[in-house]
Amino acid sequence: MPPFDVPEGDPFGAHNLPYGVFSPSGSQERRVGVRLGDHVLDAGAAAVALGSPYAPLLAQPTLNALLAAGRTAWSDVRRALTAWVTVPAHRATLEPLFHPLSEVTLHLPFEVADYVDFYASENHARNVGRIFRPDAEDSLTPNWKHLPIGYHGRSGTVVVSGTRVLRPSGQRKGPGDPVPVFGPSARLDIEAEVGFVVGVPTELGRPVPLRDFREHVFGLCLLNDWSARDIQAWEYVPLGPFLGKSFATSVAAWITPLEALEAARVAPPRRTHPLLPYLDDSAPDIEPGGYDLRISVAINGHVVAEPPFSTMYWTAAQQLAQMTVNGASLRTGDLYGSGTVSGPTERERGSLLELTWNGRDPLDLPDGKRTFLEDGDVVTFSAWAPGEGGVRVGLGEVTGRVAASA
Ligand code: CA
Repeated sequence: MPPFDVPEGDPFGAHNLPYGVFSPSGSQERRVGVRLGDHVLDAGAAAVALGSPYAPLLAQPTLNALLAAGRTAWSDVRRALTAWVTVPAHRATLEPLFHPLSEVTLHLPFEVADYVDFYASENHARNVGRIFRPDAEDSLTPNWKHLPIGYHGRSGTVVVSGTRVLRPSGQRKGPGDPVPVFGPSARLDIEAEVGFVVGVPTELGRPVPLRDFREHVFGLCLLNDWSARDIQAWEYVPLGPFLGKSFATSVAAWITPLEALEAARVAPPRRTHPLLPYLDDSAPDIEPGGYDLRISVAINGHVVAEPPFSTMYWTAAQQLAQMTVNGASLRTGDLYGSGTVSGPTERERGSLLELTWNGRDPLDLPDGKRTFLEDGDVVTFSAWAPGEGGVRVGLGEVTGRVAASA
């Protein structure tokens, strides 16, 4: 019987146990929850009921206390949760603390501190280069193979999956416009990404070496870096993305701990350029930094792309090393996006910019052709990773509906 007896092969079985924050039906109170199948366990209440020493980390309105507790605590809590949902002796105590997912409200699971977004897919970077700099000798910029390129984004507009996304207005100037015009973006796009959540902070002045990645990063989630291409194209030179990105960034309601993804770890693509020591992940004692996540991008329920995260050139460990190498400190709740995930084939591209080649080749959807997003469109990213013994590890979906400009 549910909630304990999750069907065999369920990607949200006891091998997964992602964390989120929910309010039960009829309540405003926020509680840390752990997903099992199509239910959520009130983890704080469970810890209290079972007399667990981890109650102070779990009986919380956000994941921040757990994030800050560090890797040993993350492992201990996960081990305890696994026992709670699998040992029959706990069933009677815990059964009333499970809520059907369909009856709860899910919230942003942690207080987002700083938000950084990278540009780590070579296929994506080359596609963008070919679209916007068709005459350039190389589709990559000269720095691309030497450092993970990124920019600092706006943490206050990171929203949880399900939050509607208002079409942004802004200034743009197309090639045919003699002067800039103002109005709702006509080229609203998506970027299929994976977000990494920092748990353990650092002191100012202390870079994080590659091998310390898992001492600081707690887990990951799907992320949609909504992008207004027309606003972006006019504003980005020379300082980079600004209002074309900052209106909304959606993240999944469920954070998958890195420990649930051990079987999905893979080596990143072969490095084509020598790397400076702080980014060099070729040493045998550095753990493989890639993750085999199979992402699916759907518009109004129709799958338009399946970007493979395993093709990302720069790893999350290299990105963390890059963003701290100047001494910039980390805070609990820092979030960094991988950059758009695009594989080598047309069906593997993680943005409409690439899927339609900047609007030249519209997508044929059951409800009509698309170049960029229309009001009312619902975009959903889902993903899974290979787990132990062939079972899939599901990632929480990230979805959002586009609403007309305010
Ligand atoms: Ca991005």
